[in-house]
Amino acid sequence: MTTPACGHADPAAAVTPGADGCQDSLATGGRWEHLRRCATCGHVGCSDRSPNRHATAHFARTGHPVIQSFEPGEDWWWCYVDEVAFELPGAPSYAHS
Ligand SMILES: [Zn+2]
Ligand SMILES: [Zn+2]
Ligand SMILES: [Zn+2]
Repeated sequence: MTTPACGHADPAAAVTPGADGCQDSLATGGRWEHLRRCATCGHVGCSDRSPNRHATAHFARTGHPVIQSFEPGEDWWWCYVDEVAFELPGAPSYAHS
């Protein structure tokens, strides 16, 4: 078992996604490219390839450090504090429909 270089992620935490699309883009009528789920509160935001980068904006606003890809078939995690990508074997995986 490899220990991720980040101490912010909890493999046992099951945080239900708050929406099936970027919550901020849905609220403003914007569009997005890819989705990320906040591992702290379940906020769903759009990636840095999206026009409004709501996942990163969520971190800037709340300080929630870790996101997981919300894309089908992707399980990687990213920590904004440590600036490291990693995988978390055994952790729940979520994806939009
Ligand atoms: Zn970290
Ligand atoms: Zn968005
Ligand atoms: Zn959050």
